[in-house]
Amino acid sequence: MSTNIPPQPSTEVDLIICSGWVITMESPDAVLEDHAVVIHQGRIIDILPCAHINQYKAKETIHRPEHALLPGFVNAHGHSAMTLFRGLADDLALMDWLNHHIWPAEKSWVDPEFVEHGAELAIVEMIRSGTTTFCDQYFFPETTALVAERNHIRCRLNTPVLDFPSAWAESADDYLDKGISLFKQHENHPLISVSLGPHAPYTVSDKALERVMETAKKYQCGIHMHVNETAHEVEEALKQSGIRPIERLNNLGLLSPQFQAVHMTQITDIEISLLANSGAHVVHCPESNLKLASGLCPVHQLQEEGINVALGTDGAASNNDLDMISELRTASLVAKLVDHNPTALPAYEALKLATINGAKALGLADDIGSICTGKSADLISIDLSAPELQPLYNPVSQIVFSAGRENITDTWVAGKQLMNQRQLNFINENDTFTFAKSWQAKIAAFKY
Ligand SMILES: [Zn+2]
Repeated sequence: MSTNIPPQPSTEVDLIICSGWVITMESPDAVLEDHAVVIHQGRIIDILPCAHINQYKAKETIHRPEHALLPGFVNAHGHSAMTLFRGLADDLALMDWLNHHIWPAEKSWVDPEFVEHGAELAIVEMIRSGTTTFCDQYFFPETTALVAERNHIRCRLNTPVLDFPSAWAESADDYLDKGISLFKQHENHPLISVSLGPHAPYTVSDKALERVMETAKKYQCGIHMHVNETAHEVEEALKQSGIRPIERLNNLGLLSPQFQAVHMTQITDIEISLLANSGAHVVHCPESNLKLASGLCPVHQLQEEGINVALGTDGAASNNDLDMISELRTASLVAKLVDHNPTALPAYEALKLATINGAKALGLADDIGSICTGKSADLISIDLSAPELQPLYNPVSQIVFSAGRENITDTWVAGKQLMNQRQLNFINENDTFTFAKSWQAKIAAFKY
């Protein structure tokens, strides 16, 4: 009788993904060759060499020997429905772009149908670009929630707060009441969470911000806000109040580990101290900042001071894409230039911005942002076999400096496969194309 009896599969699991490399984002050294991730009921239950997978009996086993498996990207700032304004108004300064193009267009077009179609178009692009969590700030967030839910993508909705009316709400109180209602509806949702999204210091009064802070404390939710996007808004704040916006927000008690300051292209040493001491996060959107010539966030300096920096694309109207691979490459390149230092924001740190740092900024790091047992299986697979990615010395460096979103082949959220070898499983791309085309015809024909 032979003694070489193979081990019998004992544990039944939903899915095993065998990959040429598993980039866990748990540490720079944790790039595991020929490893598999074992998934059951949406969660990662094991990471082990591919040679050992026969200890599990899987309903499905996927082999990607030429690919890298890594945590899905967390796009920490955007306005998904604005994809319908992609390319509508380019090459303009922020206030001209907002006052004369985007705000009039929003006044004319934004309603639940616009948001539904715009968010779906954005979700198609994000899944195809490896984003598994997107952090959104736009009108009719209840519609975005429905679109995200039916497409099985993870999302954080920051409900807008403004002093002026929009198609969604009439007053700051009305915005907040609607935000609270949405928060309560999604309190225990597995994929959708709700926080508050006051637009910017120059569009929200102290009185409204005080209520934002009280509400965030009461419901233990985050606050997500554009801050110091341009020098102009900081100059105007100084003229009006004598203090810079971060100091004002600090005086109002808004800065905390639940606060995400988006942009921060203008920043003094005092503001860096205020952010660092409060535990607030910064969301860096380099391509939007470059396109609007707003300035650049000194990411390396902020990191040296212990501030967590996440990464966002911003809306497609000011980027003009939702491509996190392109964004993280830009982040690394501009960090080097801003710092006059080629060692600033190296490849692994850039990848952190787009994964675990984004998860930390949103308070979701226990659940997503890295590949480790117990976390949700929010994963992407990147094909590293293309000629333009050869020779391959270092998969992390290759992803950051050479790969493109077209190399991303598969996307999973909570173990559910949303894209399989570049085919979307839940969305009909032809429908998306048809409604995008019909909105383009209407919006292009309209005179503001
Ligand atoms: Zn924005």
